[in-house]
Amino acid sequence: MTGNDLPALSIADLQSLLRRREVSPREVIDILRERIETVDGDIGAYLSLDIEAAVKEAEHSNVDLPLGGIPIAIKDIINVMGQPCTCGSKILNGYRAPYDAAVIQKLRAAGAIPFGKTNLDEFAMGSSTENSAVKSTRNPWDLSRVPGGSSGGSAAAVAGDEAFGALGSDTGGSIRQPAAMCGVVGFKPTYGRVSRFGLVAFASSLDQIGPVTKTVRDAALIMNAIAGHDPQDSTSLNESVPDYVANLGKDLRGVRLGVPKEYMIEGIDPPVRTAIDAAVKQLNSLGAEIIEVSLPSTEYAVAVYYIIATAEASANLARFDGVRYGYRAENPKDVLDLYGRTREEGFGAEVKRRIILGTYVLSSGYYDAYYLRAQKVRELIRRDFASVFGKVDALISPTSPVAAFKLGERADPLQMYLADIFTIAANLAGICGISVPCGFAELNGHRLPIGLQLLGKPLDEARILQIAHAYEQSTDWHKARPPIASTRPKV
Ligand code: GLN
Repeated sequence: MTGNDLPALSIADLQSLLRRREVSPREVIDILRERIETVDGDIGAYLSLDIEAAVKEAEHSNVDLPLGGIPIAIKDIINVMGQPCTCGSKILNGYRAPYDAAVIQKLRAAGAIPFGKTNLDEFAMGSSTENSAVKSTRNPWDLSRVPGGSSGGSAAAVAGDEAFGALGSDTGGSIRQPAAMCGVVGFKPTYGRVSRFGLVAFASSLDQIGPVTKTVRDAALIMNAIAGHDPQDSTSLNESVPDYVANLGKDLRGVRLGVPKEYMIEGIDPPVRTAIDAAVKQLNSLGAEIIEVSLPSTEYAVAVYYIIATAEASANLARFDGVRYGYRAENPKDVLDLYGRTREEGFGAEVKRRIILGTYVLSSGYYDAYYLRAQKVRELIRRDFASVFGKVDALISPTSPVAAFKLGERADPLQMYLADIFTIAANLAGICGISVPCGFAELNGHRLPIGLQLLGKPLDEARILQIAHAYEQSTDWHKARPPIASTRPKV
């Protein structure tokens, strides 16, 4: 084991090295910092690092805790005390978090070290991380391509061995889709399973925090630390949390997996379709029964999402007015000028587009026609899932219809919205889901990762992790490394 190999380790493998005292938490921080200095100029996953704080914590960390001494990268929309929280927006310039989000409190209690804030689409609005006001992040598999989004910084950091694991947030696919495009694991818990306290709100009824990791086991390890009831979040579920790691390892005999016919549509790129077909066969050969199912309201999901998400965003983003947080326009004439110009200068184009759309669908005269109607259709989407989950244990689909696209390739926002087709319904229904690597598309000499999505019943995280783990362990996809990665050693 040399310093060069260490950043390639999974959390579980790093944990064993730390516990065997073969490396110290302090050394891990130094090695990780070096790795970031070497590659982040190319990848651009991080927005800020607080090495000094990390070193201090490393010196006192107890490696026998569940995540003792393990640095975790945090999407820059989750508050970490004393660190900037830009949300990828100019409007939060200069803001520093005065408190820790609940997930950060929990990570710290488990011994982890929140290490650096990762890039994202502004306020998590986007699917490519190109909407960040700070910079674009590049896909470690092909630096001319996007890492997906909005948690593109977290996914690229993990794929590029600049992080052992990371937190992202998923409002309509923002953990699963970038994980798929970067060839890593992304897990979206059931709505309410993980506290949103300290997550800057985009769409409060859809947002959920979850892990981005190299393996399913690592996702389970982070879930063990962050899941559970939190009185600081009124939508947090007061339900017991199983040990997700202890539940791994069961085989797939007797498991029923549904393939929604509405998800296997035209428009899925041929290499994605081939990889998913092969994954379905593989799951079947592992003992799972494959059943075709129907989710008839699927065609409305994207439209419903872009009404509800923008409506909630328009309300949530009203707080950024130049008075309370971050950026403030200079020399305002009066208070209205202060609000108006701060928002004009502080928000980017996509955020403005959504605030305008959200304000429109909520406005008198249009509320019934759009917002209320969308809420009704949302309920139909939820019922689709509830009825299908009476017949099957989980659903299988591609995570994204396409592999990573080129930076700048998707200039039309509508085209970008439509690509969320497979991930969005899960947020509308509040269910859990995961993306695991399941193959590659070969393009101009580059291998581009493809993700398999598994969707599960509300609060059935343990089973989804179990199925994903069984699949992962029967394949080599998760062992593949992007060209920029360091080599992965044997532990
Ligand atoms: N791509 C979707 C959007 O732009 C989802 C974003 C997310 O999950 N945060 O809204």
